[in-house]
Amino acid sequence: MTIHELSSPVTGDAIGGWRESGAAGVAAAVTVAAAALPRLAELSRWQRCDLLLATARALAARRDEVVADLLVEHGKVRAEAEAELDTAIHALETTAEYARRLDGSMPAMSDPAKRVLVDRIPLGVVGVITPWNFPINIPLEYLAPALAMGNSVVWKGAESTPRSSAHIAAVLAEAGWPEGCVVAVEGGPETGAALAAHQGLAAVGFTGSTVVGHQIARIGGMRKLLLELGGNGPTVVFADADPQQVAEAVVTAATFCSGQSCAATERVLVQQSHYPQVLDAIVAVAAGRTVGAPDDPTAAFGPLHLAQTARTMRDHLADATARGARLAIGGAPLADAPTDRYWPLSVLDRVDAASLVFTEETFGPIVPLTPFRDESELGDLIDAGGYGLNGAVFTADLDRAFRVAQALPCGSVVINDHSNVWETHLPFGGHPGRGSGIGRVGAPYALQELSTLRSTILHLGGVGHG
Ligand code: NAD
Repeated sequence: MTIHELSSPVTGDAIGGWRESGAAGVAAAVTVAAAALPRLAELSRWQRCDLLLATARALAARRDEVVADLLVEHGKVRAEAEAELDTAIHALETTAEYARRLDGSMPAMSDPAKRVLVDRIPLGVVGVITPWNFPINIPLEYLAPALAMGNSVVWKGAESTPRSSAHIAAVLAEAGWPEGCVVAVEGGPETGAALAAHQGLAAVGFTGSTVVGHQIARIGGMRKLLLELGGNGPTVVFADADPQQVAEAVVTAATFCSGQSCAATERVLVQQSHYPQVLDAIVAVAAGRTVGAPDDPTAAFGPLHLAQTARTMRDHLADATARGARLAIGGAPLADAPTDRYWPLSVLDRVDAASLVFTEETFGPIVPLTPFRDESELGDLIDAGGYGLNGAVFTADLDRAFRVAQALPCGSVVINDHSNVWETHLPFGGHPGRGSGIGRVGAPYALQELSTLRSTILHLGGVGHG
């Protein structure tokens, strides 16, 4: 089988590769996963939660190896790799907590001879397809709730992070999950498309781009879909906000994971009267946050993971400046770095709302600023691009903060901090009808998404049993 070679975004050195499982590999994996369903059903939900906690311990025990591989394979800095691992461990523990307490119900009926139990049952075999930006945490956001609720999973991790995927497969085995509960397949779009289309799946969980999410939605059929897609998070800054606080927050969210986060600050709308102060503060903070190698303690963020994102950065910068924006800082990768992916933060001044950087997701370290006159102008600006994931509002006026936050078509809105805020027990996902997905991850919500309701109605022999 052909091996697709990978090179480290950090050094350019060869770091192994990946194989394409293809349609045949997917079909075999679905058969194995289907056969594991009875083994999962033999375990109580509490026993499956014990296995989740054992998985969390196994993951914690290999902290050094996981972090080392994230650095070389992904390119994120050490502090972010450590934080990702901690979040993943926490997600396993939180899912176990919520799964143990998830109750059914026993609604009253009008018929005195009937009793009903409404409880949650597994869906069956769930297909899960995940991206590279959080290659440890995002897969577990699906695998943990799916397994807790008794589903088996066929999972395809991202083709560019096979070492991370291998760690997840290993900790599941070490924790003692029955054979076949999670079957990992390898590959890129070909294997992903074969998995998404497989008719043996009861549900598909996908985190990735909006383009691929739309393709999966089109072939969804009667299966349950949980889609977590792209964002171009608006941050709205009113004239009464503190420019320094805004600058720290915006730069933090635009450089976290080198801007390769779906909840990153992707564009900043600043009230005109305050615009020069906010721009100056952002440029000053940006100048102090440098890109560098992941184990360089002075680096605030690492190189871009994919060559494709570097091309998008160039395209979006060129398009914005051609439409009249001024480059305030950044604009090109470091000339003397080991690869061409060391992009400093780029700040764009006075970006036209028709620009690609304004309407699409750049997924890199970039802060495009656009002035607005007053609240009445905001609706069209926020709507541009049609995404609906995370947003942020900065203002000292509580009424206005709430009014604007409630009106933003986003799954989450943060008031007076950046948009990249999430904890594993909170709902995370896109506003319905927009380009950011369907459904919610986050422990208590994903448990519901990855299970279904069964009503068992009992007819009693007599009436009048209370
Ligand atoms: P991507 O869509 O290119 O790939 C994601 C996964 O889908 C990979 O495993 C890939 O191999 C697979 N894939 C590619 N083409 C496919 C196809 N035709 N059918 C089925 N599977 C296919 O996305 P990416 O570049 O890996 O990830 C970045 C995107 O993910 C960004 O848009 C980002 O915003 C989004 N994202 C969203 C969230 C969220 O929670 N909403 C979280 C992280 C990332």
